Amino acid sequence: MDRNLYTRLAALFPAAIKAAPFARLTDGRRLTYADVENGSARFANALVKLGVKPGDRVAVQVEKSIEAVLLYLGTVRAGAVFLPLNTAYTPAEVAYFLKDAEPALFVCDPAKAEILSPVAEEAGARLETLGVRKKREKASGSLDRLGVSAGDQFKTVARADDDLAAILYTSGTTGRSKGAMLSHDNLVSNALTLTDLWQFSEDDVLLHALPVFHTHGLFTACNVVLAAGASMIFLPRFDLDLVIEALPQATVMMGVPTFYTRLLDDPRLVHKLVQEVRLFISGSAPLLPATHAAFLERTGHAVLERYGMTETSMNTSNPYVGDRRPGTVGLPLPGVDLRIADPETGSPKKMSEIGVIEVKGPNVFMGYWRMPEKTAEEFHDGWFRTGDLGLIDEAGYVHIVGRAKDLIISGGLNIYPKEIEIVLDACAGVLESAVIGVPHPDFGEAVIALVVPAPGKAPEAEKLSAVLAEKLASFKQPKALIFVEDLPRNTMGKVEKSKLRAQFSQVLQ
Ligand code: ATP
Ligand code: MG
Repeated sequence: MDRNLYTRLAALFPAAIKAAPFARLTDGRRLTYADVENGSARFANALVKLGVKPGDRVAVQVEKSIEAVLLYLGTVRAGAVFLPLNTAYTPAEVAYFLKDAEPALFVCDPAKAEILSPVAEEAGARLETLGVRKKREKASGSLDRLGVSAGDQFKTVARADDDLAAILYTSGTTGRSKGAMLSHDNLVSNALTLTDLWQFSEDDVLLHALPVFHTHGLFTACNVVLAAGASMIFLPRFDLDLVIEALPQATVMMGVPTFYTRLLDDPRLVHKLVQEVRLFISGSAPLLPATHAAFLERTGHAVLERYGMTETSMNTSNPYVGDRRPGTVGLPLPGVDLRIADPETGSPKKMSEIGVIEVKGPNVFMGYWRMPEKTAEEFHDGWFRTGDLGLIDEAGYVHIVGRAKDLIISGGLNIYPKEIEIVLDACAGVLESAVIGVPHPDFGEAVIALVVPAPGKAPEAEKLSAVLAEKLASFKQPKALIFVEDLPRNTMGKVEKSKLRAQFSQVLQ
Protein backbone atom coordinates (compact mmCIF):
# COMPACT_ATOMS: atom_id res chain seq x y z
CA MET A 1 0.00 0.00 0.00
CA ASP A 2 1.21 3.49 -0.80
CA ARG A 3 2.40 5.23 2.37
CA ASN A 4 3.42 8.48 0.67
CA LEU A 5 2.80 11.39 3.04
CA TYR A 6 0.74 13.15 0.36
CA THR A 7 -1.40 10.10 -0.37
CA ARG A 8 -2.16 9.66 3.31
CA LEU A 9 -3.00 13.31 3.90
CA ALA A 10 -4.99 13.60 0.65
CA ALA A 11 -7.08 10.61 1.72
CA LEU A 12 -8.27 12.90 4.51
CA PHE A 13 -9.45 15.57 2.08
CA PRO A 14 -11.46 13.52 -0.42
CA ALA A 15 -13.33 14.89 -3.44
CA ALA A 16 -16.17 16.10 -1.26
CA ILE A 17 -14.07 18.74 0.44
CA LYS A 18 -11.94 19.79 -2.53
CA ALA A 19 -13.87 23.05 -2.75
CA ALA A 20 -13.09 23.80 0.90
CA PRO A 21 -10.69 26.66 1.66
CA PHE A 22 -7.01 25.89 2.28
CA ALA A 23 -5.27 29.25 2.43
CA ARG A 24 -6.05 32.93 2.37
CA LEU A 25 -3.17 35.15 1.30
CA THR A 26 -2.47 38.82 1.96
CA ASP A 27 -2.77 39.66 -1.76
CA GLY A 28 -6.40 38.53 -1.67
CA ARG A 29 -5.78 35.14 -3.29
CA ARG A 30 -7.66 32.18 -1.89
CA LEU A 31 -6.65 28.57 -2.42
CA THR A 32 -8.93 25.57 -2.03
CA TYR A 33 -8.02 21.94 -1.46
CA ALA A 34 -8.48 21.42 -5.21
CA ASP A 35 -5.72 24.01 -5.68
CA VAL A 36 -3.51 22.03 -3.28
CA GLU A 37 -4.07 18.92 -5.40
CA ASN A 38 -3.54 20.66 -8.75
CA GLY A 39 -0.76 23.02 -7.64
CA SER A 40 1.30 20.23 -6.07
CA ALA A 41 0.72 18.11 -9.20
CA ARG A 42 2.06 20.93 -11.40
CA PHE A 43 5.25 21.14 -9.34
CA ALA A 44 5.60 17.35 -9.33
CA ASN A 45 5.28 17.33 -13.13
CA ALA A 46 7.79 20.17 -13.42
CA LEU A 47 10.31 18.28 -11.26
CA VAL A 48 9.91 15.12 -13.33
CA LYS A 49 10.44 17.19 -16.48
CA LEU A 50 13.67 18.52 -14.97
CA GLY A 51 14.87 14.97 -14.43
CA VAL A 52 14.27 14.72 -10.67
CA LYS A 53 13.96 11.04 -9.71
CA PRO A 54 12.50 9.40 -6.61
CA GLY A 55 15.06 9.65 -3.78
CA ASP A 56 16.72 12.76 -5.27
CA ARG A 57 17.07 15.75 -3.00
CA VAL A 58 15.41 19.04 -3.95
CA ALA A 59 17.09 21.84 -2.02
CA VAL A 60 15.07 25.02 -1.66
CA GLN A 61 16.05 28.46 -0.36
CA VAL A 62 13.15 30.75 -1.18
CA GLU A 63 11.13 33.52 0.41
CA LYS A 64 7.96 32.40 2.14
CA SER A 65 5.11 31.81 -0.30
CA ILE A 66 2.22 29.41 -0.68
CA GLU A 67 3.97 28.12 -3.82
CA ALA A 68 6.86 27.03 -1.58
CA VAL A 69 4.38 24.92 0.40
CA LEU A 70 2.97 23.46 -2.84
CA LEU A 71 6.54 22.73 -3.98
CA TYR A 72 7.09 20.81 -0.72
CA LEU A 73 4.01 18.70 -1.48
CA GLY A 74 4.94 18.35 -5.16
CA THR A 75 8.44 17.15 -4.24
CA VAL A 76 7.04 14.56 -1.88
CA ARG A 77 4.49 13.45 -4.50
CA ALA A 78 7.33 12.91 -6.98
CA GLY A 79 8.97 10.62 -4.42
CA ALA A 80 11.85 13.06 -4.00
CA VAL A 81 13.25 14.46 -0.76
CA PHE A 82 12.40 18.04 0.20
CA LEU A 83 15.27 20.00 1.69
CA PRO A 84 14.41 23.55 2.75
CA LEU A 85 17.13 26.02 3.75
CA ASN A 86 16.94 29.04 6.01
CA THR A 87 16.55 32.24 3.95
CA ALA A 88 19.21 33.88 6.12
CA TYR A 89 21.97 31.53 4.97
CA THR A 90 24.72 33.27 3.02
CA PRO A 91 25.98 31.86 -0.31
CA ALA A 92 28.97 30.38 1.56
CA GLU A 93 26.63 28.57 3.94
CA VAL A 94 24.40 27.42 1.08
CA ALA A 95 27.52 26.05 -0.62
CA TYR A 96 28.20 23.90 2.44
CA PHE A 97 24.64 22.52 2.52
CA LEU A 98 24.57 21.78 -1.21
CA LYS A 99 27.88 19.97 -1.05
CA ASP A 100 26.65 17.98 1.90
CA ALA A 101 23.23 17.11 0.49
CA GLU A 102 24.10 16.74 -3.21
CA PRO A 103 20.66 17.73 -4.47
CA ALA A 104 19.66 17.08 -8.09
CA LEU A 105 17.93 20.45 -8.10
CA PHE A 106 18.43 23.67 -6.18
CA VAL A 107 15.60 26.20 -6.15
CA CYS A 108 16.42 29.74 -5.07
CA ASP A 109 14.90 33.20 -5.05
CA PRO A 110 15.10 34.87 -8.50
CA ALA A 111 16.98 37.81 -6.96
CA LYS A 112 19.73 35.46 -5.77
CA ALA A 113 20.05 33.37 -8.95
CA GLU A 114 23.10 35.18 -10.22
CA ILE A 115 25.10 34.91 -7.01
CA LEU A 116 24.01 31.33 -6.32
CA SER A 117 24.43 29.93 -9.80
CA PRO A 118 28.17 29.14 -9.36
CA VAL A 119 27.34 27.60 -5.96
CA ALA A 120 24.79 25.26 -7.57
CA GLU A 121 27.17 24.44 -10.40
CA GLU A 122 29.98 23.59 -8.01
CA ALA A 123 27.66 21.18 -6.18
CA GLY A 124 26.46 19.61 -9.43
CA ALA A 125 22.88 20.75 -8.93
CA ARG A 126 20.59 22.20 -11.56
CA LEU A 127 19.36 25.69 -10.63
CA GLU A 128 15.77 26.94 -10.95
CA THR A 129 14.03 29.87 -9.27
CA LEU A 130 10.86 30.45 -7.32
CA GLY A 131 9.82 33.90 -6.13
CA VAL A 132 6.87 35.52 -4.44
CA ARG A 133 4.15 36.29 -6.96
CA LYS A 134 3.15 39.94 -7.05
CA LYS A 135 -0.53 40.81 -7.10
CA ARG A 136 -2.17 39.23 -10.16
CA GLU A 137 1.18 37.87 -11.35
CA LYS A 138 0.69 34.39 -12.85
CA ALA A 139 4.10 33.02 -11.90
CA SER A 140 7.36 34.15 -10.34
CA GLY A 141 10.60 32.41 -11.26
CA SER A 142 11.54 29.70 -13.73
CA LEU A 143 10.20 26.77 -11.70
CA ASP A 144 6.90 28.52 -11.09
CA ARG A 145 6.57 29.20 -14.84
CA LEU A 146 7.37 25.60 -15.61
CA GLY A 147 4.76 24.50 -13.08
CA VAL A 148 2.07 26.77 -14.51
CA SER A 149 2.53 25.27 -17.96
CA ALA A 150 2.73 21.68 -16.64
CA GLY A 151 -0.25 19.36 -16.25
CA ASP A 152 -2.36 19.59 -13.10
CA GLN A 153 -2.76 15.83 -12.67
CA PHE A 154 -0.03 13.65 -11.22
CA LYS A 155 0.00 10.10 -9.99
CA THR A 156 1.78 10.32 -6.64
CA VAL A 157 4.82 8.03 -6.52
CA ALA A 158 4.27 5.20 -4.04
CA ARG A 159 6.53 5.29 -1.00
CA ALA A 160 7.05 3.10 2.05
CA ASP A 161 6.78 4.32 5.66
CA ASP A 162 10.55 4.51 6.08
CA ASP A 163 11.36 6.19 2.76
CA LEU A 164 12.68 9.73 3.14
CA ALA A 165 10.29 12.62 2.63
CA ALA A 166 12.60 15.39 3.80
CA ILE A 167 16.00 16.30 5.07
CA LEU A 168 15.80 19.21 7.42
CA TYR A 169 18.89 20.86 8.82
CA THR A 170 18.79 21.67 12.53
CA SER A 171 18.92 25.33 13.54
CA GLY A 172 22.62 25.28 14.37
CA THR A 173 22.10 26.73 17.85
CA THR A 174 24.72 24.49 19.45
CA GLY A 175 27.11 23.96 16.55
CA ARG A 176 27.09 23.14 12.86
CA SER A 177 23.61 22.24 11.57
CA LYS A 178 23.00 18.55 11.00
CA GLY A 179 20.70 17.13 8.31
CA ALA A 180 17.88 15.19 9.96
CA MET A 181 16.45 12.50 7.69
CA LEU A 182 12.68 12.40 8.11
CA SER A 183 10.55 9.60 6.69
CA HIS A 184 7.03 9.80 5.35
CA ASP A 185 5.71 8.05 8.45
CA ASN A 186 7.76 10.27 10.83
CA LEU A 187 5.88 13.28 9.51
CA VAL A 188 2.40 11.83 9.01
CA SER A 189 2.25 10.02 12.35
CA ASN A 190 3.15 13.23 14.19
CA ALA A 191 0.64 15.32 12.24
CA LEU A 192 -2.17 12.86 12.98
CA THR A 193 -1.33 12.74 16.68
CA LEU A 194 -1.29 16.55 16.95
CA THR A 195 -4.49 16.99 14.94
CA ASP A 196 -6.24 14.75 17.40
CA LEU A 197 -4.58 16.12 20.55
CA TRP A 198 -5.16 19.77 19.70
CA GLN A 199 -8.65 18.97 18.37
CA PHE A 200 -8.15 20.45 14.93
CA SER A 201 -11.16 20.29 12.59
CA GLU A 202 -12.12 21.60 9.16
CA ASP A 203 -13.62 24.62 10.94
CA ASP A 204 -10.22 25.77 12.12
CA VAL A 205 -8.41 28.75 10.67
CA LEU A 206 -4.72 28.76 11.57
CA LEU A 207 -2.87 32.06 11.66
CA HIS A 208 0.38 31.17 9.89
CA ALA A 209 3.14 33.74 10.51
CA LEU A 210 6.10 31.35 10.90
CA PRO A 211 8.82 30.73 8.32
CA VAL A 212 8.35 27.65 6.13
CA PHE A 213 11.99 26.50 6.13
CA HIS A 214 11.77 25.23 9.72
CA THR A 215 9.90 22.20 11.09
CA HIS A 216 7.54 24.40 13.12
CA GLY A 217 6.01 26.40 10.25
CA LEU A 218 6.42 23.75 7.57
CA PHE A 219 5.55 20.40 9.10
CA THR A 220 3.77 21.15 12.36
CA ALA A 221 1.64 23.93 10.93
CA CYS A 222 0.99 22.81 7.34
CA ASN A 223 0.67 19.08 7.93
CA VAL A 224 -1.76 19.54 10.81
CA VAL A 225 -3.88 21.91 8.70
CA LEU A 226 -3.90 19.38 5.82
CA ALA A 227 -4.65 16.43 8.08
CA ALA A 228 -7.62 18.29 9.58
CA GLY A 229 -8.90 19.73 6.30
CA ALA A 230 -8.59 23.11 8.04
CA SER A 231 -7.49 26.37 6.46
CA MET A 232 -4.96 29.06 7.18
CA ILE A 233 -4.39 32.77 6.93
CA PHE A 234 -0.96 32.71 5.39
CA LEU A 235 1.14 35.77 6.23
CA PRO A 236 4.50 36.48 4.62
CA ARG A 237 6.12 36.85 8.07
CA PHE A 238 5.33 37.88 11.63
CA ASP A 239 4.26 41.45 11.05
CA LEU A 240 2.50 42.89 14.08
CA ASP A 241 -0.02 44.91 12.06
CA LEU A 242 -0.88 41.97 9.80
CA VAL A 243 -1.16 39.60 12.76
CA ILE A 244 -3.45 41.97 14.64
CA GLU A 245 -5.58 42.43 11.54
CA ALA A 246 -5.86 38.66 11.05
CA LEU A 247 -6.45 37.54 14.65
CA PRO A 248 -10.22 38.21 14.67
CA GLN A 249 -10.63 35.68 11.82
CA ALA A 250 -8.33 33.03 13.31
CA THR A 251 -9.16 30.11 15.60
CA VAL A 252 -5.59 28.94 16.31
CA MET A 253 -2.16 30.54 16.29
CA MET A 254 1.13 28.67 16.40
CA GLY A 255 4.04 30.83 17.44
CA VAL A 256 7.45 31.14 18.98
CA PRO A 257 7.73 32.95 22.33
CA THR A 258 8.74 36.25 20.70
CA PHE A 259 5.33 36.35 18.93
CA TYR A 260 3.73 36.48 22.36
CA THR A 261 6.06 39.07 23.86
CA ARG A 262 5.65 41.29 20.80
CA LEU A 263 1.87 40.99 20.94
CA LEU A 264 1.93 41.84 24.64
CA ASP A 265 3.90 44.99 23.86
CA ASP A 266 1.03 46.20 21.68
CA PRO A 267 -1.97 47.90 23.32
CA ARG A 268 -4.24 46.53 20.57
CA LEU A 269 -3.96 43.07 22.12
CA VAL A 270 -7.19 42.92 24.10
CA HIS A 271 -9.74 40.24 24.93
CA LYS A 272 -12.05 41.22 22.10
CA LEU A 273 -9.34 40.92 19.43
CA VAL A 274 -8.91 37.22 20.11
CA GLN A 275 -12.45 36.19 20.92
CA GLU A 276 -12.63 33.77 17.98
CA VAL A 277 -9.34 32.10 18.89
CA ARG A 278 -9.67 28.77 20.70
CA LEU A 279 -5.96 27.95 21.03
CA PHE A 280 -2.61 29.71 21.22
CA ILE A 281 0.40 27.39 20.92
CA SER A 282 4.04 28.18 21.66
CA GLY A 283 7.27 26.32 21.04
CA SER A 284 10.79 26.22 19.53
CA ALA A 285 12.16 28.07 22.56
CA PRO A 286 11.12 28.37 26.22
CA LEU A 287 8.11 30.56 27.00
CA LEU A 288 8.77 32.48 30.21
CA PRO A 289 6.14 31.83 32.89
CA ALA A 290 5.83 35.63 33.17
CA THR A 291 4.84 35.82 29.49
CA HIS A 292 2.33 33.02 30.01
CA ALA A 293 0.84 34.87 32.98
CA ALA A 294 0.70 38.24 31.22
CA PHE A 295 -0.98 36.70 28.15
CA LEU A 296 -3.53 34.94 30.35
CA GLU A 297 -4.33 38.13 32.18
CA ARG A 298 -4.65 40.21 29.02
CA THR A 299 -6.58 37.76 26.82
CA GLY A 300 -7.98 35.01 29.03
CA HIS A 301 -5.90 32.46 27.07
CA ALA A 302 -3.49 30.01 28.69
CA VAL A 303 -0.88 29.56 25.96
CA LEU A 304 -0.28 25.86 25.29
CA GLU A 305 3.46 25.19 25.36
CA ARG A 306 4.90 22.15 23.62
CA TYR A 307 8.35 20.76 22.88
CA GLY A 308 9.71 19.56 19.60
CA MET A 309 12.86 19.45 17.55
CA THR A 310 13.90 19.07 13.93
CA GLU A 311 14.87 15.43 14.49
CA THR A 312 11.64 14.34 16.15
CA SER A 313 8.90 16.81 15.25
CA MET A 314 6.78 17.10 18.41
CA ASN A 315 7.59 15.14 21.57
CA THR A 316 5.45 16.64 24.32
CA SER A 317 2.55 19.01 24.70
CA ASN A 318 0.59 20.59 27.49
CA PRO A 319 -2.95 19.22 27.39
CA TYR A 320 -5.70 20.76 25.30
CA VAL A 321 -8.21 19.82 27.95
CA GLY A 322 -6.69 20.01 31.41
CA ASP A 323 -3.98 21.82 33.25
CA ARG A 324 -1.53 23.81 31.09
CA ARG A 325 1.40 24.37 33.40
CA PRO A 326 3.60 27.39 32.71
CA GLY A 327 7.32 26.64 32.68
CA THR A 328 6.67 23.05 31.58
CA VAL A 329 6.35 21.53 28.12
CA GLY A 330 3.56 19.19 29.20
CA LEU A 331 3.21 15.45 28.79
CA PRO A 332 4.73 13.04 26.25
CA LEU A 333 2.49 12.74 23.18
CA PRO A 334 0.45 9.55 22.77
CA GLY A 335 2.75 7.01 21.12
CA VAL A 336 5.93 8.84 22.20
CA ASP A 337 8.00 7.34 25.03
CA LEU A 338 10.10 9.82 26.95
CA ARG A 339 12.59 9.16 29.71
CA ILE A 340 15.29 10.97 31.63
CA ALA A 341 18.72 9.34 31.54
CA ASP A 342 22.00 9.93 33.27
CA PRO A 343 24.23 11.88 30.86
CA GLU A 344 27.27 9.72 31.67
CA THR A 345 25.96 6.22 32.29
CA GLY A 346 22.68 6.37 30.34
CA SER A 347 20.82 4.72 33.22
CA PRO A 348 17.27 5.97 33.86
CA LYS A 349 16.79 8.76 36.41
CA LYS A 350 14.08 8.85 39.07
CA MET A 351 11.15 11.24 39.21
CA SER A 352 12.20 14.91 39.52
CA GLU A 353 15.87 14.12 38.87
CA ILE A 354 17.59 16.05 36.10
CA GLY A 355 19.13 14.20 33.18
CA VAL A 356 19.17 14.00 29.40
CA ILE A 357 15.78 13.74 27.74
CA GLU A 358 15.53 10.65 25.52
CA VAL A 359 12.65 9.81 23.22
CA LYS A 360 11.40 6.84 21.22
CA GLY A 361 8.45 6.68 18.85
CA PRO A 362 7.25 6.81 15.25
CA ASN A 363 8.16 10.52 15.19
CA VAL A 364 11.88 9.92 15.74
CA PHE A 365 13.97 10.53 12.63
CA MET A 366 15.97 8.02 10.58
CA GLY A 367 19.37 9.42 11.50
CA TYR A 368 21.65 12.28 10.51
CA TRP A 369 22.37 12.59 6.79
CA ARG A 370 25.80 11.16 6.05
CA MET A 371 26.83 11.24 9.71
CA PRO A 372 26.67 7.56 10.74
CA GLU A 373 28.95 8.12 13.74
CA LYS A 374 26.95 11.04 15.07
CA THR A 375 23.77 9.00 14.54
CA ALA A 376 25.22 6.01 16.41
CA GLU A 377 26.34 8.32 19.22
CA GLU A 378 22.85 9.73 19.75
CA PHE A 379 20.89 6.46 19.58
CA HIS A 380 20.92 3.83 22.36
CA ASP A 381 18.62 0.78 22.15
CA GLY A 382 16.25 2.73 19.95
CA TRP A 383 16.21 5.76 22.26
CA PHE A 384 17.23 9.09 20.77
CA ARG A 385 19.25 11.37 22.98
CA THR A 386 17.81 14.86 22.45
CA GLY A 387 20.68 16.80 24.01
CA ASP A 388 18.16 18.65 26.18
CA LEU A 389 18.33 18.37 29.94
CA GLY A 390 15.13 18.03 31.88
CA LEU A 391 13.07 16.25 34.46
CA ILE A 392 9.65 14.68 34.83
CA ASP A 393 7.67 15.94 37.83
CA GLU A 394 5.27 14.03 40.06
CA ALA A 395 2.35 14.86 37.75
CA GLY A 396 4.23 13.52 34.71
CA TYR A 397 4.93 16.98 33.23
CA VAL A 398 8.25 17.46 31.49
CA HIS A 399 10.41 20.44 32.47
CA ILE A 400 13.32 21.49 30.26
CA VAL A 401 16.20 22.97 32.21
CA GLY A 402 18.45 23.72 29.26
CA ARG A 403 20.67 22.04 26.76
CA ALA A 404 23.41 19.62 27.75
CA LYS A 405 25.85 21.82 25.83
CA ASP A 406 24.89 24.82 27.98
CA LEU A 407 25.43 22.97 31.25
CA ILE A 408 28.05 24.74 33.34
CA ILE A 409 30.62 22.70 35.21
CA SER A 410 32.31 24.90 37.77
CA GLY A 411 34.88 23.46 40.17
CA GLY A 412 33.55 20.00 39.25
CA LEU A 413 29.95 20.85 40.13
CA ASN A 414 27.05 20.82 37.67
CA ILE A 415 25.11 24.04 37.38
CA TYR A 416 21.91 24.34 35.35
CA PRO A 417 21.58 27.85 33.92
CA LYS A 418 17.79 27.70 34.00
CA GLU A 419 17.75 27.47 37.79
CA ILE A 420 19.56 30.79 38.04
CA GLU A 421 17.61 32.37 35.19
CA ILE A 422 14.31 31.58 36.92
CA VAL A 423 15.42 33.44 40.06
CA LEU A 424 16.68 36.44 38.08
CA ASP A 425 13.61 36.62 35.83
CA ALA A 426 11.38 36.79 38.91
CA CYS A 427 13.21 39.89 40.24
CA ALA A 428 11.54 43.27 39.85
CA GLY A 429 12.90 45.24 36.93
CA VAL A 430 14.25 42.21 35.06
CA LEU A 431 12.80 41.48 31.63
CA GLU A 432 14.83 38.36 30.96
CA SER A 433 18.23 36.85 31.56
CA ALA A 434 20.74 34.37 30.18
CA VAL A 435 23.20 32.52 32.37
CA ILE A 436 26.32 31.07 30.77
CA GLY A 437 29.61 29.52 31.75
CA VAL A 438 32.85 31.27 30.81
CA PRO A 439 36.47 30.24 31.36
CA HIS A 440 37.74 30.88 34.89
CA PRO A 441 41.34 30.46 36.05
CA ASP A 442 40.46 28.51 39.25
CA PHE A 443 37.14 26.81 38.55
CA GLY A 444 37.64 25.88 34.91
CA GLU A 445 34.33 27.49 34.17
CA ALA A 446 32.33 29.99 36.16
CA VAL A 447 28.83 31.41 36.02
CA ILE A 448 28.04 34.83 34.66
CA ALA A 449 24.59 36.32 34.12
CA LEU A 450 23.47 38.63 31.34
CA VAL A 451 20.45 40.60 32.46
CA VAL A 452 18.03 42.56 30.27
CA PRO A 453 16.25 45.27 32.30
CA ALA A 454 12.50 45.72 31.79
CA PRO A 455 11.61 48.82 29.72
CA GLY A 456 12.28 51.97 31.75
CA LYS A 457 13.72 49.99 34.69
CA ALA A 458 17.26 49.81 36.00
CA PRO A 459 17.52 47.04 38.57
CA GLU A 460 20.50 47.35 40.93
CA ALA A 461 23.14 44.67 40.66
CA GLU A 462 23.49 44.57 44.47
CA LYS A 463 19.80 43.86 44.92
CA LEU A 464 19.86 41.06 42.36
CA SER A 465 22.95 39.57 43.99
CA ALA A 466 21.22 39.69 47.37
CA VAL A 467 18.23 37.76 46.02
CA LEU A 468 20.53 35.19 44.39
CA ALA A 469 22.51 34.82 47.61
CA GLU A 470 19.33 34.14 49.51
CA LYS A 471 17.93 31.59 47.06
CA LEU A 472 20.94 29.71 45.65
CA ALA A 473 23.99 27.86 46.93
CA SER A 474 27.12 29.96 46.69
CA PHE A 475 28.75 27.88 43.92
CA LYS A 476 25.78 28.70 41.66
CA GLN A 477 26.01 32.43 42.16
CA PRO A 478 27.16 34.43 39.15
CA LYS A 479 30.68 35.81 39.40
CA ALA A 480 29.51 38.71 37.28
CA LEU A 481 26.14 40.33 36.53
CA ILE A 482 26.21 42.18 33.26
CA PHE A 483 23.37 44.36 31.99
CA VAL A 484 22.67 44.08 28.27
CA GLU A 485 20.06 45.69 26.03
CA ASP A 486 18.84 42.43 24.56
CA LEU A 487 19.83 38.81 23.98
CA PRO A 488 21.00 37.55 20.57
CA ARG A 489 18.28 35.41 19.02
CA ASN A 490 18.00 33.47 15.78
CA THR A 491 14.98 33.56 13.48
CA MET A 492 13.10 31.03 15.61
CA GLY A 493 13.54 33.16 18.73
CA LYS A 494 16.19 30.91 20.27
CA VAL A 495 18.77 32.63 22.47
CA GLU A 496 22.18 32.02 20.94
CA LYS A 497 24.23 31.18 24.00
CA SER A 498 27.26 30.18 21.94
CA LYS A 499 27.44 33.79 20.73
CA LEU A 500 27.20 35.06 24.29
CA ARG A 501 29.94 32.69 25.42
CA ALA A 502 32.21 33.97 22.66
CA GLN A 503 31.41 37.60 23.41
CA PHE A 504 31.98 37.37 27.17
CA SER A 505 34.72 34.73 27.24
CA GLN A 506 37.27 37.16 28.69
CA VAL A 507 35.30 38.78 31.51
CA LEU A 508 36.71 36.62 34.31
CA GLN A 509 40.23 36.29 32.96
P1 ATP B 1 21.10 22.49 16.75
O1 ATP B 1 20.56 21.12 17.02
O2 ATP B 1 21.68 22.60 15.38
O3 ATP B 1 21.97 23.02 17.82
P2 ATP B 1 18.46 23.47 17.52
O4 ATP B 1 18.46 22.32 18.47
O5 ATP B 1 18.17 24.82 18.08
O6 ATP B 1 19.83 23.52 16.70
P3 ATP B 1 15.88 22.88 16.40
O7 ATP B 1 15.69 21.48 16.04
O8 ATP B 1 15.23 23.93 15.59
O9 ATP B 1 17.43 23.19 16.35
O10 ATP B 1 15.41 23.13 17.88
C1 ATP B 1 15.11 22.10 18.79
C2 ATP B 1 15.44 22.55 20.19
O11 ATP B 1 14.65 23.69 20.55
C3 ATP B 1 15.14 21.54 21.24
O12 ATP B 1 16.13 20.55 21.33
C4 ATP B 1 15.05 22.41 22.49
O13 ATP B 1 16.33 22.68 23.03
C5 ATP B 1 14.44 23.69 21.95
N1 ATP B 1 13.00 23.79 22.23
C6 ATP B 1 11.96 23.52 21.42
N2 ATP B 1 10.78 23.74 22.04
C7 ATP B 1 11.09 24.17 23.28
C8 ATP B 1 10.33 24.58 24.41
N3 ATP B 1 9.00 24.62 24.39
N4 ATP B 1 11.00 24.95 25.53
C9 ATP B 1 12.36 24.93 25.58
N5 ATP B 1 13.12 24.57 24.54
C10 ATP B 1 12.50 24.20 23.41
MG1 MG C 1 19.21 20.42 18.30
